[in-house]
Amino acid sequence: MTDFKKMAVPGVQKLNPYIPGKPISELERELGIDNIIKLASNENPLGPSPKAMEAIKSEMDELALYPDGNGFALKKALAEKHGVDMDCITLGNGSNDVLVLLAEAFLSPEHNAIYSQYSFAVYPIAIQAVGAEHQMIPALPWQSNTPLGCDLDLMHSAINENTRMIFIANPNNPTGSYLGEEELYDFIKQVPDHVIMVLDEAYLEYSSEGERVDGTQWLQEFENLVITRTFSKAYGLAGFRVGYCLSHPDIANVLNRIRQPFNVNSLALAAATAALDDEGFLQKSMEVNAAGMQLLEDKCQDLGLRYVPSKGNFILVDFGKDAMPVYQQMLELGVITRPVANYGLPNCLRITIGTEAEMQRMIDVMDQVCG
Ligand SMILES: *Cc1c(COP(=O)(O)O)cnc(C)c1O
Repeated sequence: MTDFKKMAVPGVQKLNPYIPGKPISELERELGIDNIIKLASNENPLGPSPKAMEAIKSEMDELALYPDGNGFALKKALAEKHGVDMDCITLGNGSNDVLVLLAEAFLSPEHNAIYSQYSFAVYPIAIQAVGAEHQMIPALPWQSNTPLGCDLDLMHSAINENTRMIFIANPNNPTGSYLGEEELYDFIKQVPDHVIMVLDEAYLEYSSEGERVDGTQWLQEFENLVITRTFSKAYGLAGFRVGYCLSHPDIANVLNRIRQPFNVNSLALAAATAALDDEGFLQKSMEVNAAGMQLLEDKCQDLGLRYVPSKGNFILVDFGKDAMPVYQQMLELGVITRPVANYGLPNCLRITIGTEAEMQRMIDVMDQVCG
């Protein structure tokens, strides 16, 4: 027998694959039940923006043609939105694609890249896949201003001459914890020029305007800053896979050399461009999220369950014991949540905020399982 695992490049041999949330269709097959709700992958419960749906219809006739490999229309819309030049933008097949492009372009086995414990599982995968050393920095404790969030002092002290990249998600997934504007700015300011500072803002839209920490304001000041954004969460287009990053044009130029020529498909380009223009949908999504978050927080308090205050569209809840049986019981009641034992949080589940009806159902289920 050929040992194909041994044949894989060393970084890949050590990888643990990403574990996605359980699809509804899978639970249907397993348990033979219907009326299932999925609160497991931080998807938008309102579905895609109606404007996006409309836009793809007219694009359907063009499916025999390759997409616009430069993504002109979407980049133009994004450049206007962010007040940057189009050559600062790199589009990706989800922001996951952009994270991987960054690792492929800038990391090699002599480099290390830094990220926090309990941060997005894609970072160590992207780093290790290219053979670089991944440096996971212990997170802050529950009893801190940023529960389970980045320990910025510790992260800073881990930087050495071989460090080439730092990943920070703000707000962070799966914890929901977030950094304040000042502390984040002070940290980025201290990051040396030879380190690419990747700030992942997948959930930025969910914080209210007054308290939003928007890293794009620092792009002019820091040439080594890269901001990633996605259409998968607030814009409701997870299935289409569109994300992007904003950076110095020279960084975008490097990424463009290794990007697959048609990494974003034509329907996705059309949908994202239209969604960007749908302020009403975004607004509604924020309102539904805020209301659902309140319901879930109240229920956690009722039941005496600890949780991390979140600025995303999900909450990390601590069940105070192995959460796997809790997860299973919830599945049997038709509700899919997300176990996070693979992140080192075996007592917790991550619960995505759904519609009001979905949250009422979630709360009933929590009463049945925990009450
Ligand atoms: C969901 C998520 C992403 C985005 O994923 P896509 O590839 O754009 O769907 C990026 N970062 C974090 C922290 C996320 O939770």
